[in-house]
Amino acid sequence: MSYHHPNSPSNLGRRRLCPGSYKEEAGVPEIVEAGEAAEFGTEMHKECEGMLDVWRRHVVEGKEWAPPLPIWDDTADDLARRCIAWLKSKSWVGPGVDIYIEAPLALYGEDGAVLTSGTADLLLVGQDWVRVVDWKSNREPLEKVTAAMQINAYVAAAMQSFNKPEGFGYLHQPRLEDTYTYEIDHLPSAIKIVASIVDACKDPEPEYNEGEHCGFCNGKLTCPLVSKRFKQVAAMPVGIQEGMTNKEVEIVAREYLMANKEAIQQYADALHLIEPLARATRAAVLRCLKEDPDSVEGWTTRSQQSRSVVDPIKLYELCRERGVGEQEFMDTCSVKIGELEKEYVRVVQNASIKEGNKQTKRAIRQDFQNRTEGAGGPVKRNEGVAMLIPNKKKGDDGDSRDLGKITG
Ligand code: SF4
Repeated sequence: MSYHHPNSPSNLGRRRLCPGSYKEEAGVPEIVEAGEAAEFGTEMHKECEGMLDVWRRHVVEGKEWAPPLPIWDDTADDLARRCIAWLKSKSWVGPGVDIYIEAPLALYGEDGAVLTSGTADLLLVGQDWVRVVDWKSNREPLEKVTAAMQINAYVAAAMQSFNKPEGFGYLHQPRLEDTYTYEIDHLPSAIKIVASIVDACKDPEPEYNEGEHCGFCNGKLTCPLVSKRFKQVAAMPVGIQEGMTNKEVEIVAREYLMANKEAIQQYADALHLIEPLARATRAAVLRCLKEDPDSVEGWTTRSQQSRSVVDPIKLYELCRERGVGEQEFMDTCSVKIGELEKEYVRVVQNASIKEGNKQTKRAIRQDFQNRTEGAGGPVKRNEGVAMLIPNKKKGDDGDSRDLGKITG
């Protein structure tokens, strides 16, 4: 199993926003099961690593290299191709530039202790500079504090390690064809940022702050803020009794909140923390039961089976043969419209690229919705389940990808 520094570059953003997360996460194993997105990210990184290796060998031998072109099918292989195409468009590599793939880096404080360490996807070392590149497979733009703290740590560590006065960082998101940039020309200031985060974590009474960063925190099970929120919700509506159905609980809770409107804010904040806590706890309990099925009396695990339609057209024909009408079929059959839309966008965009007139995903998606959702169209938009979404804080600048410059 690979070792991760507790204040690894990817954790530093969370540590900065909530120093208490260091204490809560200490010694806690990953309790959230690695999801599909994490597995996809690992696969994309492996593909990138393989292609970078070929590229490096060509550079070392002084040969030209034509990297494999993107195929725009959103697979791990395709995203890796897009990363390499982006890299190829830069003119950083020339004589005297060293290339390190999957470079282990550590940043040391004034006392010689390791402040943070991790592995950068790509490191280039020139005469007076270092450049660190990290690939991100996320579908959404990155959270800026987390992104800035991560790249600050890698770039500073590389500058320190190779004794270079200038450092540049790039977090490239091939899915969005976008790049976050960061620059350091005063190493002591960059080290100070990391050292102050690490110091705040060591405080025996650290500060706790909840927010979006809690989603990735493995300390939720013991976190005092989560526990406080949990107690608020558990103590909430007067009148909830054991044996009530979900609907009955909802009615009691609604009546309570309508009579105590100032409490709505409190519960909205609480749910934001408690829902991830419930998911994390469920994953932890399932894992324990899987490892030791007899550990809890009265509970066991069962894998859920489901059926899915692989050929709806064949299924329709089969039902029609037995007298099931078109209307009955349409009333009971569903299509994964989101998935179908994605496929539509992919196919139409590929065709537009081949024709030399690339259309944006957003425009194609809009066109799909216009064509399918109009009067008499095959798709109807339904009122969905309302979701709780935190408001963006004032000053959030969602568009800029410039993470800043650290100067003296
Ligand atoms: S759950 Fe949130 S508030 Fe609690 S320790 Fe983790 S990051 Fe901090």
